[in-house]
Amino acid sequence: MYKAIIDLFFPKVCYACHEVLNDHEQDICTDCRNNLPVTNFHFHKDNNVSKVFYARVKVVYGTALFRFEKKGLVQQLIHNLKYKGQESIGVFLGDWLGGELKTVKEYSEIDMVIPVPLHKNKLKKRGFNQVAKFAEHIASALNVTYVDNVLLKVTNTDSQVLKSRFARWTSNEELFTLQNKSTIANKHILLVDDLITTGATMEACINVLNQAKNIKISVACMAIAQ
Ligand SMILES: [Zn+2]
Repeated sequence: MYKAIIDLFFPKVCYACHEVLNDHEQDICTDCRNNLPVTNFHFHKDNNVSKVFYARVKVVYGTALFRFEKKGLVQQLIHNLKYKGQESIGVFLGDWLGGELKTVKEYSEIDMVIPVPLHKNKLKKRGFNQVAKFAEHIASALNVTYVDNVLLKVTNTDSQVLKSRFARWTSNEELFTLQNKSTIANKHILLVDDLITTGATMEACINVLNQAKNIKISVACMAIAQ
């Protein structure tokens, strides 16, 4: 009864198109689900995510759940997640991609999932890292650890940078550093982000992570823009 009243005043809407969902629909309407531009990259080793990193950094496996199109459904999803605080979109996308990755033999080699971090000031302002839920749910689908205290995003005035030999700049002036690096030694890491465009951010993260001993890195993101 209460649920019926709540549904009447606050009907659940589709994360992508904002139409009211039917009783049998969850998170996203059937139309949007059928129209989302899935890549299926994780079923093919040579794909456009892997290719982004060729001749730059070594990436074992790479995938993205969707192709990103300007003004498309995926842009809506990521916008609502990032700027409207709809963190449950990250859960939904993480369960979706995680559910597929656990059926792919290669991804059973992954030992831990690490999200591309936000700077602590940005985190305070937004209240959450938009990649966190997505990454956590991939980790739980693969039954591996989620680790968010090793890779940090910093600015050149942060104290971690001044004392760290491990900081690396990206070409777009982002700066990352590493702490507790023994945690990730000898591990196969799945580095996770929302949108991949030039790959510069992930490349910088990978260069930083590679300072830990004997690690392998694969990457997964919500979408790839091309
Ligand atoms: Zn929809």
